[in-house]
Amino acid sequence: MLIKWMAGALCAVLVAFLLLLAWSLNSYAPLPVDPAWRPLPATGAAEAEVTVRFTGTTTLLISDGETAWMIDGWFSRPGPLQLALGKIAPDMDAITFGLAANEVDALAAVIPMHSHFDHAMDAPEVARRTGAVLMGSPATANIGRGWGLPEDQIRVLQNREPVKLGSFRITPVESRHFQFPDPAIRERALGEPEISEPLVPPVAAFDYRLGKAYVLHVAHPAGNFVVVGSAGFLKDALLGFPADTIFLGLGGLGSQTGQYRHDYWQETVVATGAQRIIPVHMDSLTGPIEGPFLGPARMMAFMAKDAGLTLPFLSSKLEQDPALRIRTLPRYREVILYP
Ligand SMILES: [Zn+2]
Repeated sequence: MLIKWMAGALCAVLVAFLLLLAWSLNSYAPLPVDPAWRPLPATGAAEAEVTVRFTGTTTLLISDGETAWMIDGWFSRPGPLQLALGKIAPDMDAITFGLAANEVDALAAVIPMHSHFDHAMDAPEVARRTGAVLMGSPATANIGRGWGLPEDQIRVLQNREPVKLGSFRITPVESRHFQFPDPAIRERALGEPEISEPLVPPVAAFDYRLGKAYVLHVAHPAGNFVVVGSAGFLKDALLGFPADTIFLGLGGLGSQTGQYRHDYWQETVVATGAQRIIPVHMDSLTGPIEGPFLGPARMMAFMAKDAGLTLPFLSSKLEQDPALRIRTLPRYREVILYP
């Protein structure tokens, strides 16, 4: 009788655990975005000098009507179990969907912010389909080679050496990746950053090593902006790179210390003098590629010990400096970066 009761109780605990696990993988924490922050205006009747379209994470399509180029070009979104236990490869249907949603079939360049899977994994296939040159670190170049991208479509960037694309002058500035507070995760994700041979997927998610973490400074006659793909910083790296607008990566920021958030803000927003802040890389890596943006899966937020401190941090920065404004990006819609 007792054994039967214990077995029943054990089963109930197991079922409850599995339900909790399934819920935590399929339910999402809130986005660190205040609904009061206005989105950038959609293009329409008005002429725009420079437009932007946002897929999620740091995938951005930038165009001035003459030249279009893309950051990251990441559309595959492997699920949490596949990321943790399996192997991953570019999802050809997701890339078809993503390029169609961005209404783009020709690009001058695709530039991953660094070589982790959520930035660089799909970039060679995006380059292959759009004729773009894949630009990045030697690690990104090896992701391109592993996908069979020809050498004349691969260009290794040099630190602080500008690249001209039409009227855009893009300067890659080597910086630091977001520093995970947990030493074991930090070592796993950021230790041994090189990919020294062509990387042929499917591979484990962590086989997409970091490479170099860039900040991009983009100068255009219409305005200057900076893209920070990962919430990391290098002291004084952005001095001498003024910008009116900053695309600011928020991923993980809520799990760091107040001092870290302060220093990140100083070395990015304050260092460039940007007064218009556009949050990026704040949405779920595993959420769907269509529909509204979702925050991180609750399991990921729990594992990252994200205490939800990003939104209050940003709100307090806005309160301290009335000249600052935060503008958001809708999904896939073409919006005006510079009128
Ligand atoms: Zn990364």
